[in-house]
Parts: sequence; C-alpha cells; structure tokens
Amino acid sequence: MKLPFQMDLTGKVAVVTGAGGVLCSSMAQALAECGAKVALLDLNEESANQNAQKIQAEGGIAKGYQANVLDKDSLKATHEKVLKELGPCDILINGAGGNHPRATTEREYFAAEDLQEDVKTFFDLEQNGVEFVFNLNFIGTLLPTQEFSRDMVGREGCNILNISSMNAYTPLTKIPAYSAAKASVSNFTQWLAVHFAGEGIRVNALAPGFFVTGQNERLLYHEDGSPTERTGKILRATPMKRFGTAEELLGSMLFLLNNDAAGFITGVSLPIDGGFSAYSGV
Ligand code: NAD
Repeated sequence: MKLPFQMDLTGKVAVVTGAGGVLCSSMAQALAECGAKVALLDLNEESANQNAQKIQAEGGIAKGYQANVLDKDSLKATHEKVLKELGPCDILINGAGGNHPRATTEREYFAAEDLQEDVKTFFDLEQNGVEFVFNLNFIGTLLPTQEFSRDMVGREGCNILNISSMNAYTPLTKIPAYSAAKASVSNFTQWLAVHFAGEGIRVNALAPGFFVTGQNERLLYHEDGSPTERTGKILRATPMKRFGTAEELLGSMLFLLNNDAAGFITGVSLPIDGGFSAYSGV
C-alpha cells in the first residue's frame, strides 16, 4: 500500500472496529505499515481475520477479533485478549457503523398520495430499525471507547478517531436515523475531546463524503451495476465529480493521529468529501 506520508507508530497498539469493512480495513493496513500492532475488530469474524492475514502476509503485526460494538461483554472479552496478545490500546478507531433499509424511507419527499400507495413513508419507519441504526453508530462508538480508552489513562500520546459523515452537518434524504446518529457521533467527538483534554487524550473524527462500500452500495447502484438516481445527485453535488477512494482517507487519519503534526487538534470532524460540504448547489 502506498502511504501518503511516512509515520512511525512502532510499538503502538491500534484497535480498529469495523475493520472487516472496506474503509476501516484500509485504515488498519496503513496503521500496520507504520509499524503499529493492529487489532482488527468486527462482528464478522471471517472478514476481520482475512484482513488481518493480508496485513500479516505483508509483514505487519495484526490480529483479527470477533467483537460486537453493541455488546459490553463481547468488548470486554475482546479487550482482555488484545491486552494479552498485543498490549494496551494507544489508538482507537471507531469505524463500525452503517445504515439499514428498515430505517430508510422510499422517497425523498413525502406526498399525501404515498399513503394510498405501497410506498414506505416516514410513517412506516420501524422503531427497531431506527434504534438499530442509531445504536450501531452512536452506542457502537460509545461502548468501545469506554472499554478501550481506559488503557489510555495516564499514558502519553493516546488518541481516539471516530467516523462521522457528511450527513452529520446536513441530513441526507431517506436516512433520518443514520443522519441523526452521525450528528451524534460528531457531537460526542466534541464532548469527549473536552472531557479527556486534561488527560492528554485527543479525540477527533473523520467526516467522509461518499465512498462506495458494502453499507451504501444498494443506494448507489442497481443490481445490474447501473448508477441510481441518487448517485447522479451525489456526483452533481460533489464539486470534484467523483466518489472518494478508501486510500483518500489515510492522509487525514495519519495526520489527526500524529501527535507532532496535530498535537493541538482535538474535537474536530474533518470533512474528506471532494467539496460536498462546501457547495451550496448553486
Ligand atoms: P462497511 O459496511 O464496509 O464496513 C462496516 C463494518 O462494520 C462491516 O465489516 C460490519 O461487519 C461491521 N459491523 C457492523 N455492525 C457491527 C457491530 N455491531 N460490531 C462490530 N462490527 C460491526 O462500511 P464502510 O463504508 O467501510 O464504513 C466504515 C465507517 O465509515 C462506518 O462508520 C460508516 O458509517 C462510515 N462512513 C462511510 C461512508 C461511505 O461513503 N462509505 C461515508 C461516511 C461515513
């Protein structure tokens, strides 16, 4: 993997949740290339292990762990293994997150006629779907932080990086729970940055624009591979006129984790969005 710049994380332990997925596996790989010992946590044990094996094959130190970011006991058990096998956590990346169709409206704008048709409207959103998405993104950031940031207390140069989103600034149509949940992730990033400032633990977030991954593929492409109307809208609202690539998050990640380069930065959510958040649409 070609890193945007070199950084020495030798001896540091990085815990990455959602590391079975597209964006966080690439982050885990970059951290390992910088010398960190990386714990790849995911609900999907197989993908966490496969991504860890790829890193090992390239000479990095990595281990996959099955963990549910919504389950304290699962996180505690994983934490014990990480402590034994890699050591105390210096860097935590809270990457597990995503949306779900049960918390998604079918149309962007409500019209009274929708009530007569077989259309999933705002009124049909299922409470358990909304709770699932809200919890996955917010509680799924809070619980791993409670578990792993304990290791950071009293140690220098420790850092937390959350994953927010564009919809934290202005909600995206159709996905109210995901939008509200990511707004809460940005808000929590600020709260925790303040709370931990005296202990020297910095807390920041990446706010990615649009990247094609497992969690949004169904919204962006039809089954036959043709782009959806939403893809057209996104690209028209992205001044750089393309989706981002996973590698394009790595420079911002390394920068925010770097205690020399970003030692006075805490509580920010950094947009990596091809200009999406800067563009008014006119
Ligand atoms: P992805 O679906 O490829 O990865 C998400 C991973 O999280 C999956 O491997 C999944 O198994 C894991 N996961 C789900 N529930 C979990 C749980 N309860 N416990 C542990 N792991 C769990 O998606 P991605 O796009 O790589 O997403 C990474 C992060 O980036 C997410 O927080 C997502 O919301 C955020 N994000 C993505 C985009 C984008 O355009 N793809 C934009 C903004 C923010």
